[in-house]
Amino acid sequence: GQEYRPVSWYPAPLGGTSSSWSESYRKAHDMVDQMNLVEKVGITTGTGWQMGLCVGNTEGVDSVGFPSLCLQDGPLGLRFADNITAFPAGITTGATWNRDLMRARGTSLGREARAKGVNVILGPSMGAMGLMPAGGRNWESFGSDPVLQAVAAAETIQGIQRIGVMATAKHFVLNEQEHFRQPNEWDNEYAISSNIGDRALHEVFVWPFAESVRADVASVMCAYQMVNNSYSCENSKLINGILKDELGFQGFVQSDWLAQRSGVQSALSGLDMSMPGDGLKWADGEALWGPQLTAAALNTSVPMERLNDMVTRIVAAWFHFRQDTWEERGPNFSSWTNEKMGKLHPGSPDDDSREEVNKFVNAQVSPGSKLHSTIARQVAAEGTVLLKNVNNTLPLSRSASRLKGKYRVGVYGEDAGPGKGPNFCADRGCNQGWGSGTVEFPYLVSPWEALESAWSNETVDWSKTCVLFFANSDGGEGFIHSDGIDGDRNDLFLQRNGTNLVEGVARQCGDGRGRTVVVVHSVGPVVLDPWIDLPGVHAVLYANLPGQESGNALIDVLFGDVDASGRLPYTIGRSLEDYGPSAQVLYETDDAVPQANLDEGLYIDYRHFDRHNITPRYEFGFGLSYTTFDLSDLNIHPLQEKSRLPHPRQKSDIEPPTYDDRHDIPEDCLMPKDFKPLSKYIYPYLLTTDGTEKGKYPYPEGYDKKQKPSEAGGGPGGNPSLWEAMLEVSVKITNTGPRAGKEVIQLYVSFPERVVEHRGMSLKQEEIDFPVRVLRNFDKISLEAGESKTVNMTLSRKDLSYWSVRAQNWVLPTEGTFKIWAGRSSRDLPLMVEY
Ligand code: BGC
Ligand code: BGC
Repeated sequence: GQEYRPVSWYPAPLGGTSSSWSESYRKAHDMVDQMNLVEKVGITTGTGWQMGLCVGNTEGVDSVGFPSLCLQDGPLGLRFADNITAFPAGITTGATWNRDLMRARGTSLGREARAKGVNVILGPSMGAMGLMPAGGRNWESFGSDPVLQAVAAAETIQGIQRIGVMATAKHFVLNEQEHFRQPNEWDNEYAISSNIGDRALHEVFVWPFAESVRADVASVMCAYQMVNNSYSCENSKLINGILKDELGFQGFVQSDWLAQRSGVQSALSGLDMSMPGDGLKWADGEALWGPQLTAAALNTSVPMERLNDMVTRIVAAWFHFRQDTWEERGPNFSSWTNEKMGKLHPGSPDDDSREEVNKFVNAQVSPGSKLHSTIARQVAAEGTVLLKNVNNTLPLSRSASRLKGKYRVGVYGEDAGPGKGPNFCADRGCNQGWGSGTVEFPYLVSPWEALESAWSNETVDWSKTCVLFFANSDGGEGFIHSDGIDGDRNDLFLQRNGTNLVEGVARQCGDGRGRTVVVVHSVGPVVLDPWIDLPGVHAVLYANLPGQESGNALIDVLFGDVDASGRLPYTIGRSLEDYGPSAQVLYETDDAVPQANLDEGLYIDYRHFDRHNITPRYEFGFGLSYTTFDLSDLNIHPLQEKSRLPHPRQKSDIEPPTYDDRHDIPEDCLMPKDFKPLSKYIYPYLLTTDGTEKGKYPYPEGYDKKQKPSEAGGGPGGNPSLWEAMLEVSVKITNTGPRAGKEVIQLYVSFPERVVEHRGMSLKQEEIDFPVRVLRNFDKISLEAGESKTVNMTLSRKDLSYWSVRAQNWVLPTEGTFKIWAGRSSRDLPLMVEY
């Protein structure tokens, strides 16, 4: 079908238009005003790969007291660092559906980063959105639904940033698969283009970024691949138009590592920081910014106002999170060595420095707060989803029967034990979930270890249990290829012969002789059909990617110390094909620019299954508990009249800072005569004054056509009117079972059946198509046996609106009837009221 062409949006909106950032911008202005041109450029451009202790490093400006910034992965802990915590992955966190735990994990991430001297964490990840169940990096983010991603991302960001560490919302946007994600790495000259329509872009993929901006995120990372045939980091519509105008983003945009593909174009399109500073190739000493940006600012091909804005955004973010008050500055660890002494710039062949680079600061505990392992364990336990539990096989009882030793219990599967140790492969390249989103495990409590101590310390009634079987499925970031998997999985089956092994065990261990409990560790959904219905399979626990506390968390759930309260953050289908055409990874292509047409992006995951009446194996939101809950008394209270559009955009009365022309001259920007440069390090200095002549270089087409600000904008994340509460919803929940437990109440919305827009001069009618229902809110409730609670949740204007391509705004249908559903999963919705 459709042809996807880039849309342009210029010029880049200036930062400093929001009241909550105005103080930070004022301070930033005063500081930036004292900087000369090369100092400014040094703040925008990384120093090059491995040219500093962190995965990303910028130049500081000593004269004004602005430090070199340390940017470090990642979404589940501090990569390449010692004495840190290996938290459960994003997908496990999403599976908890527990806002407090999401926040607590974020806070711990922030504390560890702070203790190690990290300014900017490269996380959380909310893209990949999880459109493709086999996509390599889905596990780094929180699940295949925009609202679940958004809530988890916002909680994580607020947790990290309350400690004063800057968070990064990544990857903006549509980095849904790993194949072809970068030029040259996949036998292709160009990266893949993720093609999408305006509506799915807004309603699904940008949604969690909007909530991240609303949660005050400091930084956004633009993605590797193209969107609608323009690279994400030079896509003016995405960065200038959507992120900076419509969402009102006040922080800075950094490139993914080597995702920047142009100098001037990316600057004009709104990129603020080039990471890691290298240009089109790793570590060759050539930059697209650095000296090139200095020249571009001098010759006016990048307006000085744009450069000032880049720097002001970065410095304002630093003030905004009060990093100016940090007493100790700089990282106290090295990403590149585990030794105490090491090089400061290991990327340069002629760096002969030797300093104490690793101070081995223990970041795993903060004074006055819990050990972070406690939170890691809680998240892993609540992120474990009980899928099947015949005749209450679980929880295993610790009761009195002194049968220890009498029954044989088999524990099978590579994943049960310590294997070769969690850190055997670089960036966990042979474990579940690999790539930049991993950490060096300080330790791993394997299921086997935890089981062994449960065995020896307790009197466990294992009489009914025959086998605990551990199965897994791995994938990860595209720069690692392991076991025939190039990042994205090749299929959704268990790996290492898992399917056959589970089947064999379950058949052998049939009903009469005992029970099989299967534990799955996986980066995403796996096809369970070949074995899940076998009578020998009594219970299945989906433990996702639990991190260092794996075994302890498993024991917590196996023995029922913690209720089984995880819920699926995606649908488990009966086959990969069942997820639909847009959900298939593009593994091969003859196109120079591989084209992934994600036309069905609006119908992600359960929305596709619902639309086509496909029965999944386990639907999005599903999970069993050890107790039972009854839902009743769903009531809605409209808080205001339905109206079609949000309030008109308010013009901000806060003016961005402006700077007087400094009349920079090229000669002042040359590398100082007595300066001894390190080879391959990216400096901001000019090597020659050639190419600095003013006014010779034209701006791209459409540059002079000033854009009208979006009506959907006007505040952090969008027009504040979008978050007005339209409806209050209340539901009663009662724990009707024998024990305390937790239930996740999920609210879904169906839009009115017939919504029509009028089009063009002829007023031709167009009917708007909607998903059957969409998740809009949720809450996790803890209840004692017999206890009842009334739960209140709100639905906002945005929750009840769709993105109208024609109106270029969020439209709330005022005719027809909404259905508001409450229940336990996307398909178990016992209560509904009309609105
Ligand atoms: C990844 C990012 C990561 C960066 C720095 C890239 O390859 O896509 O998620 O933050 O590397 O390690
Ligand atoms: C990763 C780096 C890795 C590099 C190798 C990047 O995507 O973030 O950690 O070393 O790829 O190509």
